[in-house]
Amino acid sequence: MAKSFFIDTSRCTACRGCQVACKEWHELPANKTRQRGTHQNPADLNAYNYKLVRFSEHLENGTIRWLFFPDQCRHCVDPPCKGIIEGYAPDGVVHDKATGAVLYTEKTKGVPIEEVRASCPYNIPRQRPDGVVVKCDMCIDRVSNGLLPACVKVCPTGAMNFGERQAMLDLAAKRLEEARKNWPDAVLADPETVNAIFLLLDDPAKYHDFAVAKASGGMNRQQFLAKLLAPARKPVERMARIG
Ligand code: SF4
Ligand code: SF4
Ligand code: SF4
Repeated sequence: MAKSFFIDTSRCTACRGCQVACKEWHELPANKTRQRGTHQNPADLNAYNYKLVRFSEHLENGTIRWLFFPDQCRHCVDPPCKGIIEGYAPDGVVHDKATGAVLYTEKTKGVPIEEVRASCPYNIPRQRPDGVVVKCDMCIDRVSNGLLPACVKVCPTGAMNFGERQAMLDLAAKRLEEARKNWPDAVLADPETVNAIFLLLDDPAKYHDFAVAKASGGMNRQQFLAKLLAPARKPVERMARIG
């Protein structure tokens, strides 16, 4: 069975250790940033940040609440991005059976990023200046050698967890039950369709626009999730466009 992350936002202190560890392990360069009136930095995922701790503030009953969301690729069980990329670059994506990791290759160079991003219900993929499409790779080099992903290894609070999918689903169900004692609206974000399962204490929209799968093209969320669960069809007619 595949591996999964369980990301318990109730334990996240927004220390950003995971974000930094991801950059270090992948030897990604720094981004030029500026103060934008928020602790979230950089402003969004980009070609050099596969992991981003998102901050959002909400005024509730006169009290300010901070919600933290350590965003990353969900390694979808049936990834919609794969079908789109393969239409342009047949060897652009490897869906690793042993881990469930969705891995982009250098063959993604030149694939239209707008189409890939539009296909992703979580708005994850980004493009490097050289045209290669990139995102979290589940630290496949570490995981294949029995190590934890870098972001999980450094997390000091137990917010980031990683292991066999069933074990992570069990842990998620247990933490959800505990969380609902104080936060009755707590939910797991799309656990049936992803291998990065978030526990959220409140309405997902308060955390991030794409905290749960975002429908597009006039579909409602249920129709969209049904599409996610259906086998991806390779858009063969596009394959001729890129050699
Ligand atoms: Fe949150 Fe853990 Fe990341 Fe720190 S390392 S920001 S506690 S998920
Ligand atoms: Fe692809 Fe987006 Fe799913 Fe990651 S989250 S596997 S980029 S569709
Ligand atoms: Fe980054 Fe690896 Fe964590 Fe993915 S699994 S967010 S690549 S550190």
